[in-house]
Amino acid sequence: GELVVAIDGPSGSGKTSVSRAVARRLGLAFLDTGAMYRALTWYCLDSGLDLAAATAAADEKLASDVVEAAVELPLIMGLDPEHETVEVDGQDITAVIRDPRISAAVSAVATNTAARAVLVERQRRLIEQTGRRVVAEGRDITTVVAPDATARILLTASPEARMGRRGHQLGGTQTDADLHRQVVQRDARDSTVVDFMTAAAGVTTVDSTELDFAQTVDAVIDV
Ligand code: C5P
Repeated sequence: GELVVAIDGPSGSGKTSVSRAVARRLGLAFLDTGAMYRALTWYCLDSGLDLAAATAAADEKLASDVVEAAVELPLIMGLDPEHETVEVDGQDITAVIRDPRISAAVSAVATNTAARAVLVERQRRLIEQTGRRVVAEGRDITTVVAPDATARILLTASPEARMGRRGHQLGGTQTDADLHRQVVQRDARDSTVVDFMTAAAGVTTVDSTELDFAQTVDAVIDV
């Protein structure tokens, strides 16, 4: 039967790896919506859009170019939790979208409301394509993309734990200031558009600060 698991949370909460493990355990498809915002960011940069412009949010021409890019984005998302693939225009960008260069620019795309609407539509179609048997994770899945999900979870952790995990993920090469930018400052920017720091009504919070990976997966499965 239908089983849609919606998981939201800030960066470094372990959302992506936990969601993928939950999808494996339950035999569900896996949709990483953050990868879609990253893919759109990659595509905009590849098309020569200057997302780093100080005035990005205020620049109307840039904003409409981003929406246009969202509409035409030739994106193929793999939904197999055993093998995540993100392809744009025939290019495999699965790894490159994790670069700090993309993380630094992604907010300029994610704070564009019209571009979000385009991606949200695609995300809803992808969920339908799985026969509504999917773990979908991001920032607005429990509230906007799939508020009708079977289970709705907010995965949180303290800022210190989240910066620590992101640092570990990036191989320990980042300074504390880098990590603060990539985790705390990015969340502060992003949460001006969608609130993923507090659980909406009907959403269960799982705090992973004191849990290891396996315990976090178990806690989500319990919900
Ligand atoms: O989860 P991840 O760090 O890969 O997400 C990358 C970015 O995509 C986030 O910083 C946020 O700006 C954006 N995002 C979003 N809504 C989602 C998923 C991600 O705005 N549902």
